[in-house]
Amino acid sequence: MSDGTSPRLRGSLEGIPSYKPGRPAAAREGGASYKLSSNENPYPPLPSVLAAVTQEAARFNRYPDMFATGLTAAIGERFDVPASHVATGTGSVGVLQQIVQSVAAEGDEVLYAWRSFEAYPIVVQVSGATSVTVALLPDERHDLDGMAAAITERTRLVLVCSPNNPTGTAVRRAELARFLDRVPSDVLVVIDEAYREFVRDPEVPDAIDVYRDRPNVAVLRTFSKAYGLAGLRVGFAVAHEPVAEALRKTAVPFGVSGVAQVAATSSLQAEDELLERVEGLVKERSRVQDALREQGWSQLPASEANFVWLRLSERTMEFAAACESAGVVVRPFAGDGVRVTIGEPEANDVFLRVASEFVTS
Ligand SMILES: *Cc1c(COP(=O)(O)O)cnc(C)c1O
Repeated sequence: MSDGTSPRLRGSLEGIPSYKPGRPAAAREGGASYKLSSNENPYPPLPSVLAAVTQEAARFNRYPDMFATGLTAAIGERFDVPASHVATGTGSVGVLQQIVQSVAAEGDEVLYAWRSFEAYPIVVQVSGATSVTVALLPDERHDLDGMAAAITERTRLVLVCSPNNPTGTAVRRAELARFLDRVPSDVLVVIDEAYREFVRDPEVPDAIDVYRDRPNVAVLRTFSKAYGLAGLRVGFAVAHEPVAEALRKTAVPFGVSGVAQVAATSSLQAEDELLERVEGLVKERSRVQDALREQGWSQLPASEANFVWLRLSERTMEFAAACESAGVVVRPFAGDGVRVTIGEPEANDVFLRVASEFVTS
């Protein structure tokens, strides 16, 4: 891709979809407006976390601990895994980029369900590898049999998003085990558990339990959602060697700031308090889902995450616009559906009012 007048760029960058961040809440005349478009935690930082961050901020003339030693040890202790199996990064999307860079390049295939997290196609294409996608089942769950059948000799990585962004559905224990038994042992499977803390279905396994006796399974977690640190960019993977070691090699040096490290460590210390907030959001999720079913949204998939998914197809953009006029910004995927974050009760109520006027099936 060169016209002879500008620097040559890698051909594989052409046509990369750009990541669309959730729109901010629009300023509105005569009423509050809420952002339900990015699956963020609606609560402000805990005072204890904010105090630790403020104290750390006084030292930002210095580089941070490159290996996030304190945080890595705290994660290892919290999840009962060796610190050598923990790799941190600039959000779990940053870690995902390290993972893809570690296992796949031109000519290789990365397999995942679609629709799923919109960062996947971007990260894969940037690496030069090829995305292979398998459509979700009609009930919005992963088609794990279809995914197993789609593995080829070129497959290097399989991404399983559970709970799935944006549909909220989660993969269950027995189907996951059956799937993993079918994946060749030299293909890495990454289970992206960005929303793990919101899962309440006892049949949905904790992927950190699954990774323990499967050397080709790695788990992605983030501090952005349940822990409320989206703005500080810190996430991590739990993986066996040599994968974990590869993730340390592919990390941007000093990528995770000192402030982010301290915030994540003090969030683990304040976990009980944070998980109480998560419990409140889970209750709010039940209230919202019950209200939607009551309104007649019979196809609503049961969400295990902090958002709900309305498959509005051709009415998607119309619905998003109606929400915005009413004071809530949601996340539309044109032609497909709308993802709505569970937020403050007042925000959820505004969304429910709009939804009641749109019931289709
Ligand atoms: C939000 C989200 C992430 C987390 O992103 P960060 O980079 O950690 O903020 C990862 N995976 C999925 C599926 C998500 O929805």
